[in-house]
Parts: sequence; C-alpha cells; structure tokens
Amino acid sequence: MKTYILWYRNDLRVHDHFVLSKAVKEADRFLPVYVFNPDNFRMLKHGFPKTGYFRLKFLLESLIDLKASLRKLGSDLHILTGKPSVVLSELAAHLNARAIYASKEHTFEELRDENELTDMLGETELRFFEDRTLMNPGGTPFSMEKIPEVFTIFRKASEKNLEHRIKLCLPDPAGLPPLPDGIEINDIPTMGDFPVETPDVNYFYPDRFLGGETNGLKRFDYYVWESKRVLEYKQTRNGLVGDDYSSKFSPWLSLGCISPRRIFFELKKFEMAEEGNASTYWLIFELLWRDYFRFVAIKHGKKIFYKGGLKNIKKSVMRDDRLFDNWKNGETGISFIDANMHELNATGYMSNRGRQVVANHFVHELQLDWRAGAAYFESQLIDYDVTSNWCNWMYVGGIGNDPIEDRRFDIEKQVEMYDPQGIYQMLWK
Ligand SMILES: Cc1cc2nc3c(=O)[nH]c(=O)nc-3n(C[C@H](O)[C@H](O)[C@H](O)COP(=O)(O)OP(=O)(O)OC[C@H]3O[C@@H](n4cnc5c(N)ncnc54)[C@H](O)[C@@H]3O)c2cc1C
Repeated sequence: MKTYILWYRNDLRVHDHFVLSKAVKEADRFLPVYVFNPDNFRMLKHGFPKTGYFRLKFLLESLIDLKASLRKLGSDLHILTGKPSVVLSELAAHLNARAIYASKEHTFEELRDENELTDMLGETELRFFEDRTLMNPGGTPFSMEKIPEVFTIFRKASEKNLEHRIKLCLPDPAGLPPLPDGIEINDIPTMGDFPVETPDVNYFYPDRFLGGETNGLKRFDYYVWESKRVLEYKQTRNGLVGDDYSSKFSPWLSLGCISPRRIFFELKKFEMAEEGNASTYWLIFELLWRDYFRFVAIKHGKKIFYKGGLKNIKKSVMRDDRLFDNWKNGETGISFIDANMHELNATGYMSNRGRQVVANHFVHELQLDWRAGAAYFESQLIDYDVTSNWCNWMYVGGIGNDPIEDRRFDIEKQVEMYDPQGIYQMLWK
C-alpha cells in the first residue's frame, strides 16, 4: 500500500494543483496535511505578532474551505501543530508513508523547514515541486543566478512567448484516493487558539476578503467575467476607495487559493471571447512583478532581509520607537499617511499606491530601519507574501531593484494626484 502525504503550505486549493495531481496518480492512500508552526505566530521583538488578526482569520477561512473541497473529493484535511520537521516526520513514520510531497518555497524560514525535514525523515521520500508562480523558475528566459536586477529587462524577455513559458492548467480532480487506515483527522483551530488580539475593526468592507479557493475564484469571475472591471484596470489601478479599482486577487494569491496560471489563461480566454486591451495586458504585467520578486529572492537568498538590501548599502537609520509607533498607529499628523495606516489596521488591506507612499515616508522621511516597516506589514497585511513584501520594501527603500536609490515622494503631490478632494482621507480619518 503506497501512502502519500501532501504537505499543504501556501497552496491552499484543489484546482490546478500540480503536487496534488501528481500525488493522486501515484498513491493508494493519501493524506493532505496542514501544519501550524508556532514560530509563525510568535511575538516579534517590535511588540506585535508575526501573523496578525486579519492574516490569521483569512488563513483559517481558507483552511475551512479547503477541507470542504477535499471532503467533496472523498478525502479530508489533517491538521498538525508543531515544528514541521518534527510533526511531519512523526506522522510519516506512524503511517509508514512512501512519500511526502509539497510545493517548493525559496525563502529563509521556509527553506529551513524543508532542510530540517529532509534531515529528520527516515525512509520516506521527500519531494518539492514548483507551483507558486506563473512561470516556473526553469521556464524563465534567465537562469536564476542571472535574473536581471532591473524588472523591465526581465519583463521584456519574459513576454516573448509568455504563453509557452507557462504550464497549462490541470483539470480539476474528479476524486482522491482514500485516507490511510485508522487516521483520526484533527480539527482546524479557531481564532481563540492563537494569541492574537481582535483589533478595533471599523469595517467599510465587511465581506471584501473571505478566505478560501471558493471565494478567490468568485472574485476572479466577478472582476473579469461579470463586471468586466478588468477592462478599466490600467486607469483605475492607482485608486484608493472601493472594491474594484484593482483586482484584489492578492490575498487569495498569497495563500495559493487561486492559481496564477488559472488567472493568466482565463484572462487570455476573456481577451478572445470579449476584449483584450491595455488593461488586460497590465494585469498580467503586474503578475510578472510577482514572479520577478520571487526569482530575485531565489537569486539573492537571505539578502532580501538584510539592512543594506541587495546592494549592501550602508545608511544610518534612526532608532525611535515613538516615530515608529506614530507611523504604525496612523498618528503622524500627515492625513494621507494616517488614512492609509488606519485602513491597514482596520481591514488588513492597503492599496498599492498607499503602500508605496507610507513605505516611502517610513524610509526617506522618518529614516527608520526599513525592516521594521516590512515586519509590520508582514503582521498586518491580509495578502502578506514574503517576496512581494520584502522586495517591494527594498525597492521603495532604494536598496533593491529600483535603479534610482533615492526616490522620495512629495506627499502633497501624491495627494494632489490621487486624493485631490480628500475623499479617501475623510473615509479613513
Ligand atoms: C511596500 C509594499 C509592500 C507590499 N507587500 C505585498 C505583499 O505582502 N503581498 C502582495 O501580494 N503584494 C504586496 N505588494 C504589492 C502590491 O501593493 C499588492 O500586490 C497589491 O496592492 C494587491 O492588490 P490587488 O490584488 O488589487 O493588486 P492588482 O493591482 O490588481 O494587481 C494584480 C496582482 O499583481 C500582483 N502585484 C501587483 N503589484 C505588485 C507588486 N508591486 N509586487 C508584486 N506583485 C504585485 C499581485 O499578486 C496582485 O494581486 C506590496 C507593495 C509595496 C509597495
């Protein structure tokens, strides 16, 4: 009897899931597992948790949805809590598992988990598969060591033949092999099981982000096929108010509730069936940024978390807890900055424009250590994605992939361009 374990990580879906389809073909008995690693829920030295309220809530909703989908396919989702290397190796030994399959990650903590598990597993085979990006690292025009430091070079080369660089989506699974005999499936924990405080939530958008594959696919259908708002994306993407100025795919992409390949090929289908324009192109352009930062992280490894960034630039920074707290709490006295931080703190989301402005202010005006700002985003953002977050922060800070090192924003000009009537600032006062 060949028993396979699928270790779910940031790939919480059943559609277009390469690892799932591979394991299913090979296994007689099959167990999908998610591991809560306490390390991801620890308090950081800054005094806030690594995973804050919104991100945790979205994760739990996504797991509930995944469990329901797996059950419909004749399987289930088993939950473990502990260091992945310890709990997975114990489980593999207990089930006498032939293999553990998982999607590949490329950043420091995730690689540490992978390496520790490799060391602890006995006979069980451990395999990782690329499944997080549009193009797999092997499908890009560059080897990972030669990923250009400038996005435009990467994008232009990638866009040639892009459709052929991306693996076709897999058919939805019709059913899954039975669970291993005698396994008792553990329940998904609830919010109360974690040391996370419920924020003073002031919802303007109560149902904007509900976790899970079902909701992610719904959002895609709405934004592209039903409302066709995608056709205005290029003009509206710097917006601040409302649900539809941008796709809002990011939370579902960050946990893998929706496959980026599915987005790509559905957009291509939409372009054929309805219309393709500069906006449909631009959405794919943005997804290439997401790929790019992942590849930058593969190339540069731990440097994406270093104070001096990719360029090892030595800049003196202020250590001022009061300035940091004021920024974090939206109490800088600059209403545009404060409004953005209020939105983040009340919903877990902030627009791309807002992120650029508050990060720019943090680094260039307050002159604080960019890593503290990035850590706060990590805690708060409902769509936190390790490489998109840390590489964007480096970019804004002039120590990453922006060829201009000191790109300072003029706040008044930003307000004039993006919130001239102060509507956003009033909304999040
Ligand atoms: C300081 C800073 C931190 C950020 N942290 C994150 C993060 O943790 N997680 C995250 O997903 N994005 C992050 N971004 C990128 C971007 O702000 C969000 O992806 C975007 O605002 C999400 O909203 P959306 O899905 O409506 O985006 P859309 O504008 O609709 O874009 C579609 C998709 O393209 C991708 N994308 C768009 N812009 C970027 C970008 N600059 N970098 C990488 N991918 C991009 C996202 O997957 C997004 O969902 C950050 C940007 C900045 C400036």
